Amino acid sequence: MPISFTTVSDLQTALNADRLAGKKIGFVPTMGALHEGHLSLVKSAAAGNDIVVCSIFVNPTQFNNAADLEKYPRMPDADIHLLKTAGCDYAFLPSVNEIYPNGKILLDIHFGDLEKVMEGEFRPGHFKGMATVVNRLFEIVTPDNAYFGKKDFQQLAIVKNMVKQLGLSVNVIGCETLREEDGLAMSSRNMLLTAAQRKAAPMIYKARRTAQEFIPFHTVEAVKELVTRYIQQSPLLKVEYFEIVNPETLQPIQDWNECKEVQGCIAVLTEGPRLIDNITYATI
Ligand code: AMP
Repeated sequence: MPISFTTVSDLQTALNADRLAGKKIGFVPTMGALHEGHLSLVKSAAAGNDIVVCSIFVNPTQFNNAADLEKYPRMPDADIHLLKTAGCDYAFLPSVNEIYPNGKILLDIHFGDLEKVMEGEFRPGHFKGMATVVNRLFEIVTPDNAYFGKKDFQQLAIVKNMVKQLGLSVNVIGCETLREEDGLAMSSRNMLLTAAQRKAAPMIYKARRTAQEFIPFHTVEAVKELVTRYIQQSPLLKVEYFEIVNPETLQPIQDWNECKEVQGCIAVLTEGPRLIDNITYATI
């Protein structure tokens, strides 16, 4: 079993000893309700470091919707059990007070155009809260390497940008998205889907994957429309946005010639959870 810590000081005592012994520290921040996607990050961390820390903290400052925060699944005992199988050494499960001892003060940081689109546009304040907690966790753990999923493509770009802006010494590593057999991206929120929503949800991936074949024959706008229409054939799914963006700047492209590879990023509303995903398209 990984050793579980709930306080910053206990975790830091263990990590200080490890660092003195010359051990390399890998870190995987999560909000828990762990699935194979999370565990793949932990396995990557275990492969590249001597000690793996996984945090489980449902961060209130990154939720812009109180009901979403309340409903977010929490299952720490099962999580700790799963972490054991993936090679995690330390599980860190802090309270809100432990992370925000002086109140929920947000980091004073801006991400320019990176935060104006997609999740930044539709979830106001989300990235500021996310950056605040990731920075605080980096400060506590001071990892050599930190692992983030490409499933949250914009989050990964923002974390990399934050590390650059603040001059942090952590190396941020992006990991591939793990999917269910039917293509649905694994997510803690999937367990909140009804059986009917779960059955409809793989369409989010299938429609976008098929879009690769449309690219040579259609404009960017036309592909966006085709995918949106296809997904919305299901009355259970409503596309909040589907943007095709430059993977570096995250700005929507107008023409396929702009980049060799583009990212199709989507958010879909159900009557239950909101689902996000993204996919890479080759344009030539
Ligand atoms: P979360 O618990 O949703 O905050 O996610 C914690 C980390 O796991 C983030 O870096 C996510 O991008 C990553 N992650 C979530 N789902 C997946 C997935 N299906 N495949 C790979 N990584 C994932």
